[in-house]
Formats: sequence, C-alpha cells, structure tokens
Amino acid sequence: MVQVAHNREGNGSAAGNVHLLRHPKRLSDSDAVHFSIRIENYAHIRRAYGEEGARAALSGVQRMLVDLFRADGIVVPEANGEIDVLIWNVEALGAGSLPDACRVWLDKFCWLAPLLSIEASGHFIHVWVSGRWEIPGALMQAHGLNAGQSGACNIGFSGAWPDDRSDWSDRYRSDVGLVSGLLSGIISGSADDTGRQELMLAWQPVCDAAGPELVLYREALVRLLDDDGKAHPPGDVFLALERLGFARVVDHYVVSRVIDELEQAPDVILAVNISAQSVRHDAWWDEIKSRLVALPDVARRLVLEITETAAMPSVSGAVRFVTSMRRLGCRIALDDFGTGYASIRQLLAFSPDFVKIDRFFVRRASVCAAEGAMLPHLIGIGQALGATVVVEGVETQEQADIVLAAGGRWQQGYHWGRPSLLRTWHRAPNGERSDATLAGSWPENPIISHGAAYDR
Ligand code: C2E
Ligand code: CA
Ligand code: CA
Repeated sequence: MVQVAHNREGNGSAAGNVHLLRHPKRLSDSDAVHFSIRIENYAHIRRAYGEEGARAALSGVQRMLVDLFRADGIVVPEANGEIDVLIWNVEALGAGSLPDACRVWLDKFCWLAPLLSIEASGHFIHVWVSGRWEIPGALMQAHGLNAGQSGACNIGFSGAWPDDRSDWSDRYRSDVGLVSGLLSGIISGSADDTGRQELMLAWQPVCDAAGPELVLYREALVRLLDDDGKAHPPGDVFLALERLGFARVVDHYVVSRVIDELEQAPDVILAVNISAQSVRHDAWWDEIKSRLVALPDVARRLVLEITETAAMPSVSGAVRFVTSMRRLGCRIALDDFGTGYASIRQLLAFSPDFVKIDRFFVRRASVCAAEGAMLPHLIGIGQALGATVVVEGVETQEQADIVLAAGGRWQQGYHWGRPSLLRTWHRAPNGERSDATLAGSWPENPIISHGAAYDR
C-alpha cells in the first residue's frame, strides 16, 4: 500500500515512514526506482496564491502520484515543491525495458500534470513539473541489465520568473484563470460544471486570389466550447499560455490532433500553429517525430506555423528544430511577419517555406494608400528569400484586389472563408475547391529535394 509521509510543511495523509524515507540508505534502496519530481512554477504559485496555494500544489501533485501508484511505491513530498517517489513494483511503470519505461512514464507524467486543475481557496491552479529518475545497479542487474542508470525529462520550463511589479500576482492569477478551462478540457475531453472547456479545431483556407478555388492549405485554429455550447475563438488564451510558460503542452496536443486529421484525409494539407516557445527539441516532440517518421506522406502535408507573439528562447536551438522537422518532410511558415517578434534576421535563419504577412498591413492598406505602399515590399522580402507568401486578414473584394496588385497571390481571410468547424475538404473531389497537392502546385521542400546542402 502507498504510504504518504508527513513533510516539513505538514501535509500528507499517513505517517510512519518518514524516518525510513529520510534515511539516505533507504532513498537509494536497491529494490526501487527513484523519481524526483519538481514543481517548476512553485515560486510563482507561492507568490500568487500564498503558502496555502503552494501547499495545495504540492499535495495535488502528491495525490496524482498516489492515485497512479497506489500499491506500488511511496510518495514523499519535500519542501520547495519537490516530491520523491520510490517505486517497488516496477511493472507499474509500463512495458519495455526498465530505463525506457522510466523515461516514457516520466515524459507522460510531466505532460499530464499541467493539465490537472488543483483547487486552492476558490482558485484553480496548474503546475508545471520536471523530473529525474534513477535505477540502482542492483535493480538493473535483477532485470538482466548492466550498471545503474539515470535520466531526466528534458521538458524545460519557459515561464518568466516572477518580477517586482505590484500587479504581478493579479496578472498571474488572471492568466491561470484564462487558461484553466482549456488545460483541463484537454484531458477530460468534455465540458462540465468545473469550467472545463472542450478544445475544438476550426479550419480556414489559404486561397489563390489569381486562380480562385485553389487552396494552398488549411489552417487549424483552436476553438473553445463553452457551457453555452458555442465555440469561441481563443482570444487572449494563447498569450496567457505563453506568459505562463504553458504553451508547449497545448501545442503538442493540437499538433497530434492535426496529424490525426491528416491520417484520415490523404489529400488535404493542414497547418497548425505553434508558439515560438515550442520551437525547441523536447521529449514530447520525440513522440510526434516518431509518428511522422512512420508516416512520411502525412509529414509532407503538415505545415507548422510559428506564431511570433512570444520571444524565441534560443534562435540556434529553434533553427535546429526547424531543420529537423523539415527533414521529416514538414513545411514551416513564419506567422505574423511584420508585427510579432519575427525579424528579417529570423527569416534568414529559418528560410521558411511560407511567410505570412500579418493582417495589420491589409487593414492599413485599405484605409491609407501611403501605408499600403509597404505591402508590396513586405511581400517582396518574403519572396526574395524563396518563401511562398500568404497575406492574412483579407476581408473584402477591394482588399483582395489591393493585395493581389501588390503581388500577394495567396490570401487568407473572411473574404475567402471564415474559420469553420466543418471539414470542408470532405466535399472534394466534386466540391468547388481543390487543394494544392491535387493541383500539383505544392511547393517543393528544399531540404527533402536538395538534402544536406540545406542543412543549416
Ligand atoms: P493567427 O495564427 O494569426 O490566426 C489568424 C487569426 O485571424 C485567427 O484568429 C482567425 O480567426 C483570424 N482571422 C482570419 N481571417 C480574418 C479576417 O479576415 N479578419 C480578421 N479580423 N481576423 C481574421 P483566432 O482563431 O482568434 O486565433 C488567434 C490567434 O491565436 C492565432 O493567430 C494564433 O496566434 C493563436 N492560435 C490559435 N490556435 C492556436 C494553436 O493551436 N496553437 C497556438 N500556439 N496558437 C494558436
Ligand atoms: Ca497562424
Ligand atoms: Ca497570423
């Protein structure tokens, strides 16, 4: 039976094993796998919700672990948001070799933990966890393996450190309030009275303004199903996720869903947004990449749109990531060009397959001719770098004409089609639109076609 020890902060549900667990010999017990779980946003939670919130976070994670490992180990919460777990019955970790089982289990746990809402004095709070595992030599030998092994879940935390602003806590709590329904909706899969919001995908086409009815690809846009049964656009939810450092957990989920869609519809090309925070290698991407390696035809019909509303943690890391995804066949789009953090330097670094010009410029072009004069230059920059340029936010025929005259053949916006929950591609082949794959105008992926020459 799992025993939960009292710790210095006085939470826990069963006493009696503190002395055992605090004893260093016991912690390196040769019969058990040792996990150390760390709540990365513990300082944030303590600052925003006080000691009570911090205690709730710790016992919330402890509860998740106890639920998972009931009779198979011991969970010990420590101070400062750290929790030790000793698993005796290693079969509980899952199939495969013991190190693989530890790795897979920890990656999954780190993904799951942020999705669970933990109640603390009328608020729902969310944790971001990282972890390490260690298998003692004796246990490895008992499994016919060599020396002891250890590893870590390399999911870093992208959240900014709490700053000195007096409204920091209010802002943090309000951001968590904004994202909580979406996060918990991902695991529940349905809306209920605790404020969970089911995540749905709407689709919006990128159309050819010169030869109407040709679709370059369709972009997946998150919609949140509320209690009223209506699907709402995300509003500031993604900005809040980025501020909190939680965007990656949602991005990986949405990318997996879009890959599911691509598997179902062999002729369609779909794009999915990923935050700049997600443009880096981590264990979760490994899982998605293995899927794409096994499904090359799906990979070549997947476009990753990098939204530039958050700064990129490391441009060189991002370039490595982008290159590896393109090697698998995926295309890369740089979103929000001209407004977000995306600079010409980043354009050069990524050499994306697509550049999307932010809708700001179309709006300005239709009210002020002088500002409209910028549009052909922006389009020209993307084209000069060899990218296919898409202009966003085209709402009227007049705007479509202005953009086309400025050299913007590929357009997206309400004029061409609003985001729709309907999978309109199911109308093909008799529907009025055909996709670029079918029409043979899907741009080549230079990494695939030219191999190592493009390895930057
Ligand atoms: P975005 O990627 O730039 O997506 C385009 C936004 O413009 C969408 O807003 C779309 O509904 C809206 N839009 C499309 N045509 C028009 C038009 O003609 N006029 C106007 N005024 N707006 C138009 P939405 O769906 O509210 O999404 C907002 C932002 O949220 C997206 O901007 C993207 O940054 C983010 N987002 C949405 N889904 C995801 C996702 O799955 N992952 C990530 N990381 N971000 C997402
Ligand atoms: Ca986008
Ligand atoms: Ca955009």
